[in-house]
Amino acid sequence: MTDGCGREIEYLRLSVTDKCNLRCKYCMPEEGIRHLLHTDVLSFEEIQRLVGIMKGLGIGKMRLTGGEPLVRKGVVSLVDMLPCDVYMTTNGCMLSEYARALKEAGLRGVNVSLDTLDAARFKELTGRDELGRVLEGIDAAADAGIPVKLNCVPIRGVNDGEIEELCDFARRSSFDIRFIELMPIGCASAHTGIPSDEIIERLGLTPSESPSDGRLSSGPAKYYRQEGSGTRIGFISPMSQKFCDTCNRIRLTADGFLKTCLQYSNGTDLRLLLRSGADNDTIRRAIESAVGYKPPAHSFGNDSGSDTRRMVQIGG
Ligand code: SAM
Ligand code: SF4
Repeated sequence: MTDGCGREIEYLRLSVTDKCNLRCKYCMPEEGIRHLLHTDVLSFEEIQRLVGIMKGLGIGKMRLTGGEPLVRKGVVSLVDMLPCDVYMTTNGCMLSEYARALKEAGLRGVNVSLDTLDAARFKELTGRDELGRVLEGIDAAADAGIPVKLNCVPIRGVNDGEIEELCDFARRSSFDIRFIELMPIGCASAHTGIPSDEIIERLGLTPSESPSDGRLSSGPAKYYRQEGSGTRIGFISPMSQKFCDTCNRIRLTADGFLKTCLQYSNGTDLRLLLRSGADNDTIRRAIESAVGYKPPAHSFGNDSGSDTRRMVQIGG
């Protein structure tokens, strides 16, 4: 399935809940959010049906996200039900409980968000004293044989002093780590992200170390090899180096809205179609039509037409 700009859409990010057991300051508003009613959230059978239709349109890879995906009851069985390659992005707090079962259900890989290795800073940033559990979760996923990547959002004055330490941790544990530029969505606007080039320069990574072109992971990250190890440091730079012209992804919110761009509210309400008895052909045409109007690029900083959903409601 191609969009109106000729981009091949191959990848779905699927939020399975808008609930979370952490409250990261740059993602969840201090006052919290008004949660969806249980009846408004797509059931596993509804998700399975939509994913099956999307598979027929060429979407073979998907990532479960949230809120926190492991907070959704039964999420392991959802992994098992889905007819495509399933990955997950999690805060890691509950991974140690579910790692083995997720592996058995066929989870292909997990990205764990890790912004700090300092317990007090973790508590300050997330509102919860859970760093220990996150680190246990990371170990458990690796022990279960699930490929692990670490994600960090560097924020000035918050965790910018820890970049080297986080890279060391990743190298010692044999994981890739990716630094993601902060996007000014909701409460993130109150914080200042750090451009990738600043970190690349600080770490002394030079183009001569031949960054892979990002295709290696079929995603937007540009990778550099970590010296003295087989691991890599990746950079996802939506602010300083927009990658919209190669954007191959769409998003489905927990209440079934198909979102075609992270910034804008463009898309279509698939739950409405599902629950009004639409057949698969009708739903397929609605997806194709929404994808046809996928915006050509984001324009963070210019808010006109922006979605009012918070990151915790979108899933990153
Ligand atoms: N709860 C899970 C987690 O934390 O990994 C999944 C959902 S979370 C919204 C997905 C990813 O989005 C996390 O890696 C988080 O750090 C990232 N994120 C949240 N707000 C962001 C922002 N404003 N800019 C860039 N990344 C953000
Ligand atoms: Fe933090 Fe993820 Fe929860 Fe957002 S959804 S508050 S990034 S743990």
